[in-house]
Amino acid sequence: MLESLPIVNQPLDHPLLEEKGIELAIKRLDLVHPLVSGNKFFKLKYNLEKAISGGFDKILTFGGAYSNHIYATAEAAKAANLKSIGIIRGEKVAPLNPTLAHAESLGMDLDFVDRSTYRLKEEASFLENLVEKFGAFYLIPEGGTNELAIKGTSEILELGDNSYSHIATCIGTGGTFAGLIQSLSKKQQLLGFSALKGVFIHEEIKELLKNHQISSVGDFRIFDQFHFGGYGKYNQELIDFIWWFFENFGIVLDPIYTGKMMAGIWKLIAQDFFPSGSKILAIHSGGLQGNIGFTARTGIKLPSLST
Ligand SMILES: *Cc1c(COP(=O)(O)O)cnc(C)c1O
Repeated sequence: MLESLPIVNQPLDHPLLEEKGIELAIKRLDLVHPLVSGNKFFKLKYNLEKAISGGFDKILTFGGAYSNHIYATAEAAKAANLKSIGIIRGEKVAPLNPTLAHAESLGMDLDFVDRSTYRLKEEASFLENLVEKFGAFYLIPEGGTNELAIKGTSEILELGDNSYSHIATCIGTGGTFAGLIQSLSKKQQLLGFSALKGVFIHEEIKELLKNHQISSVGDFRIFDQFHFGGYGKYNQELIDFIWWFFENFGIVLDPIYTGKMMAGIWKLIAQDFFPSGSKILAIHSGGLQGNIGFTARTGIKLPSLST
């Protein structure tokens, strides 16, 4: 139902890589589908199938006002002929920001809840109220991570990707990381770059892997020092890096996830973290829709044309 376009691993060419004896390629999940971008394509795919086979006519999910997940869910639901409801954290601000305006234009029903109520979103009484209000729906959690999402993200790596020594991905809820772990091959190491501030992420990923009984023949490591101040935070260094990367490689990154990961990878390369001969595959998890809202919110221009 959601059909993937062919995905390319785009090799990067740069004197630093040559000097260090390292190959670096970007898996362009930002180009996986004309409307549903990046890792969200994989996370939503089986959930939509399940919604349809379960006889639901609508899906409901949660997110912040600039959420890639909300945007992708609105697109995917429309493509699958399902209605969608987005429960949005915080007060409604008029006019809607570009992310929410787009979701609404696709037919997503937006429902705003204040932050303290939003925190209760997993509680039975809150969900019961939603059923009363909207009727029966297929529920996808905030960030989209559940069993079927992980099944989807375990399909990101393809057979040919066995030749890479390192796979790198961003971490938000960890659903993408978990699927990738499952599909590693022996001698591969998965590197996760947390977009959130705090060491809690190590414990959270451990829990996630335990809850979903995920094991791996490969190895993994999580970096918690490339958050640039925390989730959604940024500084000039990050913005400069995103522009530098675009000017050198023609690839657009975002300041919430992929920009932070690539800045981290680049630093690690410069610091000789990777042995000479390493072959790194960095997952571009998409999410570029957010760049428009970021510019609207901060006045900071970002590259926006993905080539
Ligand atoms: C949602 C998102 C992530 C985080 O994915 P998780 O599976 O929640 O860890 C990473 N990158 C981009 C671009 C995203 O939109």
